[in-house]
Amino acid sequence: MSGNKWHKLKYNLQEARKQGKNTLLTFGGAYSNHIYATAAAGKIFNFNTIGIIRGEEHLPLNPTLSFAKDNGMQLYYLDRTSYRNKNSLEVISQLQEKFGDFYLVPEGGTNELAVKGCREIIKTIDIEFDYICCPCGTSGTLAGLISGLQGHNFALGFAVLKGASFLKRDVGSLLKISGNSSLINWDINLDYHFGGYAKFNSALMNFISRFTSLTKIPIEPIYTGKMLFGIYDLIAKDYFNEGSRIVALHTGGLQGLRGLSKKSKRIDFF
Ligand SMILES: *Cc1c(COP(=O)(O)O)cnc(C)c1O
Repeated sequence: MSGNKWHKLKYNLQEARKQGKNTLLTFGGAYSNHIYATAAAGKIFNFNTIGIIRGEEHLPLNPTLSFAKDNGMQLYYLDRTSYRNKNSLEVISQLQEKFGDFYLVPEGGTNELAVKGCREIIKTIDIEFDYICCPCGTSGTLAGLISGLQGHNFALGFAVLKGASFLKRDVGSLLKISGNSSLINWDINLDYHFGGYAKFNSALMNFISRFTSLTKIPIEPIYTGKMLFGIYDLIAKDYFNEGSRIVALHTGGLQGLRGLSKKSKRIDFF
């Protein structure tokens, strides 16, 4: 279980146990870090896992899905239209008919319990800082960081999707359900999506190779690469006050590189 996905799952696993559920069901794309982490968590903590995957099956399975399967996850493919309606009562009750009783973990793992888990990330940082940055997919992680800061410092998210202004509303609702709606020391930057989710260009790839060869820290172009590109660009544009100390949260996601480097053979990440 890598990166932020463990923090998002932790209290969901406890809740599933408490409710006496033996099976976790969740949703994701074919390269999803969340599917990967849920499969691993199921194996470690003895839950059956069902992964509802967007689109059709492609054989051989990519590295993400074959890892999931090897860890005991049952994979089931949902056409894109039904997938879009995955939160509707109709689709959920079809899944219940097919798979029986399960504990539902939402796509990307984001819910109130995920926010509670990501709150704890703040306590693990033992240096002083002014800003904490993270990439945003669903923004559950950012909501957790904000709630962990409790009004101190500033949390800055970088949207990895295009047109993601809805994320600010989503963070608002997540903060509200976790009793933190008064916190305003945060923002989401929408400028570094590079064309959309999982899209990238040579400027981003060159940045990633330079960053990794300088720091020896591996990053990937879906989440952490976009955030770090954004941080460096904002530093150049004087967005941050002089002398600020910026923490960038490495949210993981390196497993996805294996599938990606196959998809785009010409790009050499490291
Ligand atoms: C899922 C994921 C994110 C996004 O987290 P959200 O809580 O959905 O915003 C960021 N980075 C990596 C590596 C991820 O796998």
